[in-house]
Amino acid sequence: MSLKFYNTLTREKEDFSPIDSKEVRMYTCGPTVYNYPHIGNYRAYIFADILKRVLVYEGFNVKHIMNLTDIDDKTILNSQKEGKTLKEFTEFYTQEFFKDIKSLNILNPTKFTKATDYIDQMVSIIKKLMENGLAYKSADNSIYFDIKKFKNYGKLSHLVLENQKENASGRIKTDEYEKDNVQDFALWKAWDKKDGDVFWETEIGKGRPGWHIECSAMSMTNLGEQIDIHTGGVDNIFPHHENEIAQSEGATGKEFVKYWMHNEWVLVDQKKMAKSFNNFYTLKDITDRKIDPIAYRFWLLMANYRTRVNFVWEALEGSEIALKRLYKLYMELGKDIGEISTKYQQKFKEYLEDDLDTPRALSLLWDVIKDENLSPADKKATILDFDKVLGLGFENLKEEKIPKEIIKLAEEREEVRKNKDFKKSDELRDKINSLGYEIKDSSDGYKINKI
Ligand code: AMP
Ligand code: ZN
Repeated sequence: MSLKFYNTLTREKEDFSPIDSKEVRMYTCGPTVYNYPHIGNYRAYIFADILKRVLVYEGFNVKHIMNLTDIDDKTILNSQKEGKTLKEFTEFYTQEFFKDIKSLNILNPTKFTKATDYIDQMVSIIKKLMENGLAYKSADNSIYFDIKKFKNYGKLSHLVLENQKENASGRIKTDEYEKDNVQDFALWKAWDKKDGDVFWETEIGKGRPGWHIECSAMSMTNLGEQIDIHTGGVDNIFPHHENEIAQSEGATGKEFVKYWMHNEWVLVDQKKMAKSFNNFYTLKDITDRKIDPIAYRFWLLMANYRTRVNFVWEALEGSEIALKRLYKLYMELGKDIGEISTKYQQKFKEYLEDDLDTPRALSLLWDVIKDENLSPADKKATILDFDKVLGLGFENLKEEKIPKEIIKLAEEREEVRKNKDFKKSDELRDKINSLGYEIKDSSDGYKINKI
């Protein structure tokens, strides 16, 4: 089986072959650092993480860039509300984001890029677009992309744009808007007093970039004019990614991205989780309930990244129980690490090669654990191998230290058992259980586990 991904551009599952056979170049639209992301946002980063891990598992070198949007409408507005400089304000949420992704076992990209470090590159692209007749200055000195001049506008979102383009005589200056509002969009926003001290003096005037140009500049600067994979959530398809294509291809004349990949939404009560609907949860809500953030990762992997998932606490709690059970069964496999089962490894690869079928990959993990024909040591090696992709943290599991008090009770029980005092032995077992531990007897003696 070969690696296949669903490409939003063609609406088909396609064989994956990178432009350069040695290295996959991948870009992920990262967070806007204006607040704590909600857990729906983290689906986008967990999906990109799994994708990257699969590519590495398949033997590719992956150069992965994730941006941090530290300048846009929302960052300016919220920094002003808090009376902080833009830099100080966005730095705080950047650090919070880093902590969150660590707790979700999301591997760092090759590089994080901050939009404010790429203003010169954005200006160059905008100048090129003006030279190519695809951008124009408006009366207030802002610069807009002229969507009617770019013949492929709409190719990603598959909008039938002919009619809309005819009607699209207007311009839109805000960074976010809906499909029914397709219009010329802002590449450069001339300074406005609402922007306060947030502006750059550049060859194209005093102002700040639009959101969309940021990703074109960061992607092209770090990964070249053409890349293999660009990821984001489905709500990025329009307008953000559509606009990225227009800007990048309008400037270079080359295809910007070979495979566009998008994760579906996390819903609450069947409605998209969103800050604007006020129906969102953050990772802190999860940890406040004493739930391990990895249980959220585990819950997401039970569905394919292209299906919508409805978030309910009971389901997350159920996932945590299942995850802890997996951990426990893994710990019971002992200390030795044997050989990876090639039979299971092949199946695992096959499932993931089919557009990242994580639900089947997870059920295979349970099969490995339950397989009576596989030695504990080989099970352990196979699970650790799978976890290179799944990232459930098996390698970090440590033998839990059993408190002295429990060991003393267990030894007492061993003593009374030798003397065939089974009543006392049962009492001691109950006592051990009531303290949160269980004791298992075998021909080699007893073993204590945390319940
Ligand atoms: P933003 O910070 O708003 O640009 O969003 C960051 C990422 O989260 C983007 O890739 C969005 O498409 C994605 N996203 C936003 N809301 C959801 C949701 N409810 N479920 C899944 N992904 C989402
Ligand atoms: Zn982006």
